[in-house]
Amino acid sequence: MGVIAMALTACTESKKEADWIVDKFDDIKVMRYEVPEFENLPLNEKLLVYYLAESAKCGRDIIYDQNFKYNLAIRRALESIYTSYDGDRSCEQFLAMEKYLKKVWFANGIHHHYSNDKFRAEFTKEWFVEQLGKYNVESPVAHEELADIICNPLRYTSRLNQSAGVDMIVASAGNYYEGVTQKEVERFYGKMVDLKDPRPISYGLNSKLVKENGKIYEKTYKIGGMYSDALEQVVYWLEKAEQVAEEPLKTTISLLIKYYRSGDLRDFDAFNVSWVKDTTSRVDFVNGFTETYGDPLGMKASWESVVNFRDEAACERTRIISENAQWFEDNSPINPAYRKPVVKGVSAKVITVAMLGGDCYPSTPIGINLPNADWIRKEHGSKSVTIDNITYAYKKAAAGSGFSEEFVLREEDRERMKQWGKLSDDLHTDLHECLGHGSGQLAEGTTGTELGSYSSTLEEARADLFALYYLGDEKLVELGLIPTLDVAKAQFASYIMNGMMTQFSRIELGKNVEESHMRNRKLIAEWCYEHGKADNVIEWVEKDGKKYVVVNDFDALRRLFGELLYEMQRIKSEGDYAAGKEIVEKYAVKIDPELHQEVRERYYALGIEPYGGFVNPEYTLVEKGGEIVDVEICYPANYAEQHLHYSKEYSFLPTMN
Ligand code: ZN
Repeated sequence: MGVIAMALTACTESKKEADWIVDKFDDIKVMRYEVPEFENLPLNEKLLVYYLAESAKCGRDIIYDQNFKYNLAIRRALESIYTSYDGDRSCEQFLAMEKYLKKVWFANGIHHHYSNDKFRAEFTKEWFVEQLGKYNVESPVAHEELADIICNPLRYTSRLNQSAGVDMIVASAGNYYEGVTQKEVERFYGKMVDLKDPRPISYGLNSKLVKENGKIYEKTYKIGGMYSDALEQVVYWLEKAEQVAEEPLKTTISLLIKYYRSGDLRDFDAFNVSWVKDTTSRVDFVNGFTETYGDPLGMKASWESVVNFRDEAACERTRIISENAQWFEDNSPINPAYRKPVVKGVSAKVITVAMLGGDCYPSTPIGINLPNADWIRKEHGSKSVTIDNITYAYKKAAAGSGFSEEFVLREEDRERMKQWGKLSDDLHTDLHECLGHGSGQLAEGTTGTELGSYSSTLEEARADLFALYYLGDEKLVELGLIPTLDVAKAQFASYIMNGMMTQFSRIELGKNVEESHMRNRKLIAEWCYEHGKADNVIEWVEKDGKKYVVVNDFDALRRLFGELLYEMQRIKSEGDYAAGKEIVEKYAVKIDPELHQEVRERYYALGIEPYGGFVNPEYTLVEKGGEIVDVEICYPANYAEQHLHYSKEYSFLPTMN
C-alpha cells in the first residue's frame, strides 16, 4: 500500500516579484509561497514534514466529494477532456472549459469557495456532451446528465444555503446529508445529544447523514467506512511520520491514527487534547475533519491539512517584546493612573507552512486557532498561530501589482515600504497583539461594558496606537528589534495612506465603513490629520488629477499617536460612552464620496483579483546507498500541472461515494 511521490513538475527558483503570481483567471490569482529555513531543519524533522505532507495530499478527493456529490465525476471528466483534447486549444469553447476547470480546482468543486454559488459555465452543453463522447470519457453519470448538472443554472445553485425560512439541508448542494430534511436532521441529533455531558463529543462531525429504505443513519468517515480508500493512504503516511517523530508528537500522531481507524469521536478528542498540550515540538500539523463552515447546521466538518514548523526568528521577536512588557507599560504616554502596575506580555506563535491540503488548498487561512471543542479549550486551552510565509507571499504578489506606484506619491516612501514593509507590519502586529490589548487598566467603578457597540473599534484603535507609538521608539533599536527608525517611517506612511484612502477600495460605493479594524484605522488617520493640520503633519497632495496623502513630519505624527492613545485609554478606563461615540462617528464612519469613487477606480484599474490561493512546493527524498540522506524542496510554478499531478498520483476515491 502507499504511493511513492515524485516531483513531476518543473521547478523554478525565480525571485522576481511578478513571479510570485503563477496564474490568474476570473476573480482569482494563484501564488506560490516559499518555505524559509526548511533546508536548515535536521533530517528527521525534514522527513516528518515530508511524510505529513504526503498525508496532506492524500485527502484531496475527500473535500471534492464533501462539497458536492458529483464533483469527482465532473473533475475527472473535465481533466480527461483537458488532457486528451486534440483540437484547437485556443478556440473559445476550449478556453471557456479550461477556465471552468481552473475554477473547479480552486474551489474543490463547482461552487465558488467564498460565495458558495455555482459557477456559470461559459461553454455550451452541446459542445461539452460532444467532447465527452469524442474522448470516451468514463463516467458513472450519463454524459447528458453530467453536462446538465454543470450547465443548467437552475440545478444545485448553492453549496450552502442558510437563508431564513428555507429547508437549509434540502436547499444546499453540499454532500453532508442525503435524503433527509432539516427537521429529520434536527430530530436525529436532538435525540443523540447528551446535554449533561461536561465533555461532549463533537456530534455528527465525521459522518454523512443519510436516509435509506426509510432508515436514517450516519455513514462514518473512517478506515472501513466512508472515504476509506483515501483515509488508508492518509494513515499510511501518518504511520511513517510516527516512526520518525519524537515525543510528545509521536503520541499525538498515534492517537490520530487510532481515531481514523475507529471513527470514534472520543478518540478524536483524545487526539486534540494531546495535540493542544504539545507546545514544544517544532514541526506541527492539522490533519482531519476539522472546520464546520460548509455544513448549514455547523456540525459536519470538511477534511483539511496544514503541515508547518515554528518560525524561530519570529518567535524570538515576540519573546523579546513580552519580556520587556513592563518597560513598555511604564513608559506608555497615558495617564499614570491607568497604567497596569504589573503587566504580562503574551508571546505569539508564528509558523511557516510547508504543505496545504484538503479544504486549506489552494485557498488558505492566514491564521489557525484550534481545537474547536469548547470543553477542550476551557480545560486545556487552544493553539493560536499566524502563518508568516503565506502573509509574506500575499505581500510579494501585491508588490508586483503596481499598487504602490499608483498610490504612494514619493519615491522615498516607496523605497522604505519596499525595504521595511514586512518587518514593520510584523512588529506592528506583534506589539498590537502581545502588548497593546493587554495594556492599561480600568478606573475604579468602570466595568468594561460601558462602550457598547463602539467598544471593538475603540479597543482596536487603542491597541493599534500602542503599536504605532512604540514602533517609533529608540527602545526597539536598543532591543535589537529594528536596525533603524526608518522601519517606523515605512509603517506610518502606509498606515495613514491605508486609513485615509486605500482601504476604501474594499467598500462598496455609497456604503459607510462598518468593520471595526477598518474603522479604527480611519479614526486614527483622520484624527491625526485634523490635529496636525496647523503644522502640516499630514497633507493631501494633488498631482496629475490624482489625490495622494503624504506624511511630512514623522516625529510630530508619533507625538499625535501618543496624544490620541492618552485619550483612547481615558475613554476605556473611564467608560466614557459619549466621548467614544463622538470620536468614532466623527472620524471613522463616513467616506467622502468623491474620494471613494476615485480610490475604487484607480484600484480596480490595476486588475488586482480579490481572491488568492496557492500552489504547494514539492519535496523529494534524496537517497544514497539505500539510505535517505536529505529531503529537497523546490517550487513549481504551474497551477494546472500541479492539479493534474495530484489528480494522477493522489486520487484514491471512487467517483461516487
Ligand atoms: Zn486587535
